Amino acid sequence: MNTASADFSRIRLAIHGGAGDLAPGAGPQPEHRAALQRIAATTKVLLMEGASALDAVEHAVLLLEECPLFNAGIGGVLNRDGLPELDAAIQRGSDRACGAVAGVMRSQSPVRLARAVMERSPHVFFSGPGAEQLGRELGLPEVEPAYFVTHERLVQLEAARRKGVITLDHDTDDSRVQQVAPDAAFGTVGAVARDVFGGLAAATSTGGLTNKHPGRIGDTPIVGAGTFADDRSVALSCTGTGESFIKACFGHEVHARMSYCGWDVAKATQNALDEVMHYGGRGGCIAIDHAGRIALPFNSYVMYRAWVDGDGLVQVAIE
Ligand code: ASP
Repeated sequence: MNTASADFSRIRLAIHGGAGDLAPGAGPQPEHRAALQRIAATTKVLLMEGASALDAVEHAVLLLEECPLFNAGIGGVLNRDGLPELDAAIQRGSDRACGAVAGVMRSQSPVRLARAVMERSPHVFFSGPGAEQLGRELGLPEVEPAYFVTHERLVQLEAARRKGVITLDHDTDDSRVQQVAPDAAFGTVGAVARDVFGGLAAATSTGGLTNKHPGRIGDTPIVGAGTFADDRSVALSCTGTGESFIKACFGHEVHARMSYCGWDVAKATQNALDEVMHYGGRGGCIAIDHAGRIALPFNSYVMYRAWVDGDGLVQVAIE
């Protein structure tokens, strides 16, 4: 139980819209920058109004899911059969309460469904039709799978099928990830926050990989891999080659290095990313530690990100 009094100087926020390798000449990406700026700014206002870190990360990820520029919710990438299969997770740092869903295509907001799993079921992880059934029973809005499908994602799937590759969402170079196509990249979205009481939370949502085999699940909904929060150490959300982030046990590895070795968040996240590379993957993460320090490391060329540090300013960067 957090008995701290409210203090606005504790507020921190970071969001991401995926990592990858921008195509040469892709330009400064003004639309992506504007979306990240807007979503970080509205989430900061929520935190200033006293919202919990959990409410803040759910809000930010919900807005990112609704933004077709990123690989989550509307605009999520499509599997081999041309269907969205969406994964999401959320965790609160004070007690590690968490919820996750995988392979859903009818629940309007995967992150909202993940939160419902956390707060309104006795379980922590649901998949596919059972997850959707739970959402229906809890009265969450449902949509047809076509609701998530955009023209750009259909074109991307066709290109991946032609090349016979499985792609991550913003990439241009397939040399480092087996079967990953040239126009792939990781457009997954995520948020981490620290509220006025110092509480931490993390949430992540994704469509996964373009042309993935139906049923494939990445790191995003795996608490302790792509999503993790513990008030004693760190809240983090990952993007990248999910298989390698799972092998690296990314979230828990960072927590363990910080808790047992006394490493700071920058060193612990960088070390875990080195592990990801060791397992043949790449990508990045956004992380906020218990003292409000922010780390945003990535080993791909770009990571779409925005953050609010101790000065309260919203900053946006891609490279
Ligand atoms: N990590 C996600 C996955 O493997 C992909 C991404 O970050 O875009 O499903």
